[in-house]
Amino acid sequence: MSYDLIVIGTGPGGYVAAIRAAQLGLKTAVVEKRKTHGGTCLNVGCIPSKALLHASHAFEDANTHFDKLGISVGTPKVDVKKMMAFKQEGIDGNTKGVEFLLKKNKIDAFLGTGRIAAAGQVEVTAEDGSKQILETKNILIATGSDVARLPGVEIDEKVVVSSTGALELESIPKRLIVIGAGVIGLELGSVWRRLGSEVTVVEYLDRILPGMDGEVAKNFQRMLSKQGFAFKLGSKVTKVGKGAKSATVTIEPAAGGAAETIEADVVLVAIGRVPYTQGLGLDELGIQKDPRGRILTDAHFSTNVTGIYAIGDVIAGPMLAHKAEDEGVAVAEILAGKAGHVNYDVIPGVVYTAPEVAAVGKTEEELKAAGIAYNVGKFPFTANGRAKSIGLTEGFVKILADAATDKVLGVHIIGATAGESIHEAVIAMEFGASSEDIARSCHAHPTFAEAVKEAALAVEKRAIHM
Ligand SMILES: Cc1cc2nc3c(=O)[nH]c(=O)nc-3n(C[C@H](O)[C@H](O)[C@H](O)COP(=O)(O)OP(=O)(O)OC[C@H]3O[C@@H](n4cnc5c(N)ncnc54)[C@H](O)[C@@H]3O)c2cc1C
Repeated sequence: MSYDLIVIGTGPGGYVAAIRAAQLGLKTAVVEKRKTHGGTCLNVGCIPSKALLHASHAFEDANTHFDKLGISVGTPKVDVKKMMAFKQEGIDGNTKGVEFLLKKNKIDAFLGTGRIAAAGQVEVTAEDGSKQILETKNILIATGSDVARLPGVEIDEKVVVSSTGALELESIPKRLIVIGAGVIGLELGSVWRRLGSEVTVVEYLDRILPGMDGEVAKNFQRMLSKQGFAFKLGSKVTKVGKGAKSATVTIEPAAGGAAETIEADVVLVAIGRVPYTQGLGLDELGIQKDPRGRILTDAHFSTNVTGIYAIGDVIAGPMLAHKAEDEGVAVAEILAGKAGHVNYDVIPGVVYTAPEVAAVGKTEEELKAAGIAYNVGKFPFTANGRAKSIGLTEGFVKILADAATDKVLGVHIIGATAGESIHEAVIAMEFGASSEDIARSCHAHPTFAEAVKEAALAVEKRAIHM
C-alpha cells in the first residue's frame, strides 16, 4: 500500500490535516504513538483543563455566588475522584470523536511510533516492538510539543508536576506553587485555588501573561490577587527541593538580591513547551531546525527536504490548537494543488479563567514598537447591561484602530465570555474592518458583545452608555 500523505501525530494539527487531505481525495494515513488520538490538546491539554476549569468554577459559584442569587445548597463539597471522572468523560468523548472522523474519512490509522526512514518512507514501531515500513509520496510531521523543563528539577508528576500531573492530582494541595505566569500556569492555578489551594505564582519577568497587552495583564493580575493568588514577580527559581509529600522552592530576585525559600505541597512547573521531534530521525535526513529546536519550514510548510512538511507546535508560531488546525487545513490544500494559507495576524488567544482574557491582533506595546499611530476605544463591563444584570462587571473591551485608516489592528477583552466575544473581532479583522464597521453593526441586547460595539464607538469618543 502506498499513500499520497502520511501524517505523523494526530493532535489538532495532524488529524485535521489528514481529514482535509482525505476530503480532497488524497490517500491518507496517520501514525500516532499514544493509544488515543487528539494529541496534547485532547488528552492532556485544552480539553481536560477546560473540564476542570468548568467544574471548579461551578464549585466556586456554588460557594460564593449562589446565595446572592437566592439559591441555598448548603456547604458544597468537592469529590476530586468524581471531578476527574467528569474530566475523563470529556477526554473520551473527544478522542473517540477523532477516531470516528478518521474512519469516516477512510484514513488508515497506525498506532505506534513513527520514524522517517527516508523521504517517502515512514517506519512504524508498534508497542510490542514490531516494525513496518509505509510508503508515501508526502510526509507531514505534526508531532507537537512537550513540557519545558527547569534544569536540575525532576518532575515526578506527584509532588513536582507538569501540566499533565496538575490535571491528575488525587487530592487538593494545601499549598501550590506555580512556576511561570503564562496561560497554562494561571489556568491550572485557578482550578486548584478555586478548590481550596493557597496558590503562589513565581515568575521571572516583572509581569504576568508575557506577550499579551500590558494594560490587560496588569488589570488581570489585580483581579487574580483579589481572588487570592499571591504573585512573586521578577523572581528566579534557583532550586526545587523535593520530599515525599512536600517541596521547597528557593527563589531570588531576578535582578539579584537575597534568596528566600517557600514551601509547598505541590509545585507546578509551567514555564512553557518545547517542540517535540525525538526519534523522528530528522538529523539523519538533514532536516533543518531553528535554535529553539523548531522545524524550519517555508511559506508552504515544506521543510528543506522535498516531500517532508511540518505544522503545529513543532514549527514556529503560537503554540495553540487552532493555529495547528488552520495549518493542517492549509498544508492539505497545498498538497492537493489548492491555495491554502494561514493569516498569522489574526489568530486569537484565550485564557479560560474567570474572568476570561482574550486577544487578537496587535498589543499597544507592539504598535508603539512598530511606530504605528493608533486610536484606542475602551468600554468597561460596569456599563454593560447584561454584565450588570448578572453581577459579572469585571473587565473591559479595548479596540486599537489605525489612526490614519481606522482599520482594526488589535482587540483585547477581559471579562465574562471574552473567549466567545473575541470572535466577532476575529471575523471583522479577517475582512479588514474598521472600528466604524463594528460600531455600525447591530448587536443584540443585552449581550456582553455589546461592549465590543461600544468600544468601537469609543474609538471616535462616541460610546453611548458611558
Ligand atoms: C495544559 C494545556 C492546556 C492547553 N490549553 C489550550 C487551549 O485552551 N487552547 C489552545 O489553543 N491550546 C491549548 N494548549 C496547547 C495545545 O494543546 C497545542 O498547541 C496543540 O495540541 C498543538 O497541536 P499539534 O497537533 O501541533 O501537536 P500535539 O497536540 O502535541 O500532538 C502531537 C501528537 O504527535 C504524537 N507524536 C509525537 N511524536 C510521534 C512519533 N514519533 N510517532 C507518532 N506519534 C508521535 C504525540 O503523541 C501527539 O499525540 C494547551 C496545552 C496544554 C499543555
